[in-house]
Amino acid sequence: MAAAHKISQIRLPPLPSIKDVIKLYKLRALRELSQNFLMEPRLLDKIVRAAGHIENHVVCEVGPGPGGITRSIIKQAPRKLVLVEKDPRFIPSLELLADACKDRVDVDIITGDILKTDLAHFIPSDTKTDWSDPPPPINLIGNLPFSVSTILIIRWLEKISRQEGPWALGRARMTLTFQKEVAERMCAPMLDKQRCRLSVMCQNWCRVNYKFDIPGAAFLPKPEVDVGVVTLTPLKKPVIDLPFKLVEKVIRQIFSMRQKYSIRGAQTLFPQEVRQEMALKMYKLAEIDPVTRPFQIANSEFRRLCEAYNEIIKQYPEFENYDYRAPKNKGVEIENTI
Ligand code: SAM
Repeated sequence: MAAAHKISQIRLPPLPSIKDVIKLYKLRALRELSQNFLMEPRLLDKIVRAAGHIENHVVCEVGPGPGGITRSIIKQAPRKLVLVEKDPRFIPSLELLADACKDRVDVDIITGDILKTDLAHFIPSDTKTDWSDPPPPINLIGNLPFSVSTILIIRWLEKISRQEGPWALGRARMTLTFQKEVAERMCAPMLDKQRCRLSVMCQNWCRVNYKFDIPGAAFLPKPEVDVGVVTLTPLKKPVIDLPFKLVEKVIRQIFSMRQKYSIRGAQTLFPQEVRQEMALKMYKLAEIDPVTRPFQIANSEFRRLCEAYNEIIKQYPEFENYDYRAPKNKGVEIENTI
């Protein structure tokens, strides 16, 4: 099996090294776009290997920059490659790569912001599989800019929950880099000191695997933090099978006072005058001990809490749109939870 993959690998014609590309096109890294380039071919290949088998797949790469990971992807002979890069300075070097593999790989280069790009538009519909099937031949890969990585994963989780965008075509897998601490939080199980809102959100809709670390020293310029490579595979059925906004709100409020008893955070789901009574009702319905702290709650227990909250707002629809964060409702300080 492995030998068959090797045969169909693409050998790119001699190209300038990434270091030379950066010099040639005068691509000084821009701090405002979180540009840290990976130069080491071994690590670039390792990121792409973490995505698994991609031959004949449609691969979307976020933030290809000078094209280091892009080269490693092309070598694995995908059928189509969609590149989304915000900084137009990189387009000529990406066009050079597209030209070098034009007989084997169909490359779309999009100069734009990943947060505003509808990737589904560029993915052929014949890749579609049913949600209950194994993942479709679509992979999303990216050494993400730190400045957008957390926002992007939350947006993508929302799309996954609705089976929209690339996920209208099935359970497309993601292989992404994050600031190491963020990657650890995404994977953190119950009782882990890193456990937070992001852990429960990611694990609710995806199987999350921490693959490996990349030391900051492997990048140019060197970021102040190390990096973690994570794969996410959407689950056939989420742990909490309720609308994204409801789950997000309950988890966010419960973790808003992460050092306190979790019921304190849950109280902020309700207006001041009924706060204590309703939160107690929610914990009773869910059969959760109110003095449990947020990091001690398992994903399945969060499901019971979300279901209990859902029951309460069915009974008292006036609480559904209550927003503790609206300035007039804020009674106590909320801690930053990401
Ligand atoms: N993939 C290259 C590598 O591994 O060396 C570059 C990675 S660098 C950390 C992040 C890249 O994402 C940069 O090329 C940057 O211009 C690009 N970028 C930043 N914000 C972006 C956005 N909102 N949408 C698309 N690309 C973005």
